[in-house]
Amino acid sequence: MLISKISPSFRVNNFNFGAQRQNQRVSFLMPYDTVSFTGKVQEDKKPELKEKTIYIFLGAPASGKGTQAKKLAKELGIAHISTGDLLREEVKNQTEVGLEAQKYMDAGELVPTNVFKAILVKRIAQDDCKNGFILDGFPRSEEQAVMVDELNKKENAKIKVIKLSVDEDKLVDRMRSRALIENRTDDTPEKLKTRIANYNAVRDILINYYGDKVVDIDGNQDIEGVESQITKTVQEDLK
Ligand code: AMP
Repeated sequence: MLISKISPSFRVNNFNFGAQRQNQRVSFLMPYDTVSFTGKVQEDKKPELKEKTIYIFLGAPASGKGTQAKKLAKELGIAHISTGDLLREEVKNQTEVGLEAQKYMDAGELVPTNVFKAILVKRIAQDDCKNGFILDGFPRSEEQAVMVDELNKKENAKIKVIKLSVDEDKLVDRMRSRALIENRTDDTPEKLKTRIANYNAVRDILINYYGDKVVDIDGNQDIEGVESQITKTVQEDLK
């Protein structure tokens, strides 16, 4: 019987705490009403994409791309690929790629694509990308956008670009907060300036390149506000 698969739970003020069905994701804190009198837990239906989709997150440094990309990846059960994270991992491990990339990253400059192309191609070929994936921080040039299309030629997955627009003074504030937590060598006001300039230089090129695939999101709001706008646009991609 289903109820036997539910771990012990208790009820306070009409909320059921700790009800967890084995092997299935249910909210930890859910209204008591979601547990019916038969003891069955309502299915927590996982959103499913209609077709393989590549979401490209476009935004200035500290615009919140990473935070939002991670949230969406979790929600959709698809991979989150941040080229910044991939490169930082290489730097941490002091690999050949890492040693080469570090010079550019420390200066807040873009790493030449051919330095890390093989790593990205290998990452995209992994099994968790088969239903779709999120590219965070890639492409950052027209050459890289062409590369995405080439890699996508065979499967022809849908591409949607989520562009986060954030005012520059907000970017500086957010970068200051992030610098305190993450201790990144490129999160200094000087380097942020270079990184924002690099982004601005390519932003319109990429917007032109992707045309009506771009969805503009106001990234000045708080995390939940931005997340709800993204959820709205992703809704049309779901079964
Ligand atoms: P991010 O974490 O996306 O801000 O990236 C941190 C740094 O990694 C950037 O400032 C670049 O030096 C490098 N990087 C990340 N993605 C790319 C990319 N698509 N092309 C070139 N360099 C990149």
